[in-house]
Amino acid sequence: MNPQESTRPPRRVLVTGGAGFIGSHTSVLLLEAGYDVLILDNLSNSTVEVVAAIERVAGRRPDFVCGDVRDGALLARLFARSAIAAVFHFAGLKSVAESLAAPLDYYANNVGGTIVLCREMAEASLHTLVFSSSATVYSASHAPPLSESSPLDPAQPYGRSKLMIETLLGDLAATDPRWAIASLRYFNPAGAHETGALGERPKGIPNNLMPYLCQVACGERPELIVHGNDYPTPDGTGIRDYIHVMDLAQGHLAALDYLETHPGFIAINLGTGRGYSVLDLVEAFERVIGRTLPRRIGPRRPGDIAASWAAVDRARELLGWQSERGLEAICRDAWRWTCTGCPPRS
Ligand code: NAD
Ligand code: UDP
Repeated sequence: MNPQESTRPPRRVLVTGGAGFIGSHTSVLLLEAGYDVLILDNLSNSTVEVVAAIERVAGRRPDFVCGDVRDGALLARLFARSAIAAVFHFAGLKSVAESLAAPLDYYANNVGGTIVLCREMAEASLHTLVFSSSATVYSASHAPPLSESSPLDPAQPYGRSKLMIETLLGDLAATDPRWAIASLRYFNPAGAHETGALGERPKGIPNNLMPYLCQVACGERPELIVHGNDYPTPDGTGIRDYIHVMDLAQGHLAALDYLETHPGFIAINLGTGRGYSVLDLVEAFERVIGRTLPRRIGPRRPGDIAASWAAVDRARELLGWQSERGLEAICRDAWRWTCTGCPPRS
């Protein structure tokens, strides 16, 4: 949408972690919807070039500050400088494996960062927050579909950091009726912007299936290792709910609209409600690129669960949002980004 066509009065939002994968795509939609966007990112897992790419895609430039969300004095200055209507809080560390090796980093950055952010928001009388949570908060022993009332029991420090944050945000909302907080539990974000100008660029060897597949397809990795084919699923490989990053980004705008009239704290799943196996995704990707890829079956990856997909009724009923893009669009857009937009890895 052209910003001039927007009926929304210009409003300024802070996007922490806005140079990252999901934050950059959400920033594009916010700019296109007429919001003024201020990105705060310490570039620990992104680059400043992403800000220029956001501008190219959205046709408007976000303001960008390179800094850490744990820097309370910096946040205070940013909140004092211009009125902010709401905060989207993407900034955080997100690797399950890394969190097992360095749990304190995860608690310090994810939990510590959110505490500093909320304190400074309260100081600035700013109480509207959309938080990036994760399906890892759910108990691995509960069968899908996972609804927001399914048992919570994260299996690793990353997931526990997200659940701690949800708990503290719920406590915060209970203390002051001005808080309006949505904790969005993402399932498996994948894909890229359809222009190929923005996408996911993991540092090092990708943990996630989609970026790994893309690197096999462009010859950076010799083969895909399928982590186990002896799960109790129809083809024996793990099942996940892959959601296109642009659908996910759209869900954030819907959440902000919802919060305008619904104070308090709410957790909402953002997924498609459909699960696909590893082999389903590989075959969809092969159809998109028109060739088969080398793969072999390896052992199960420690900590993996057999199947996970979302119950999406709450998002549909409260936000009026549901995913629109399917597996083919996810594969097509991820591949376009890999071929055209993804800068060479250092
Ligand atoms: P990302 O790493 O691409 O983006 C996060 C951004 O935050 C990066 O640009 C990084 O530089 C920045 N950052 C990290 N710590 C910071 C700090 N202390 N101060 C300022 N900036 C900081 O990750 P993403 O995939 O875009 O994920 C965004 C959020 O969504 C994260 O909180 C993540 O835990 C959550 N999430 C992601 C997934 C996924 O599969 N991608 C799934 C569920 C939840
Ligand atoms: N997977 C795989 N090979 C890889 C990466 C992932 O077989 O190189 C599988 C993994 O075991 C899981 C699915 O792909 O069943 C999705 O994994 P991902 O890490 O993308 O998401 P998560 O497990 O964190 O939900």
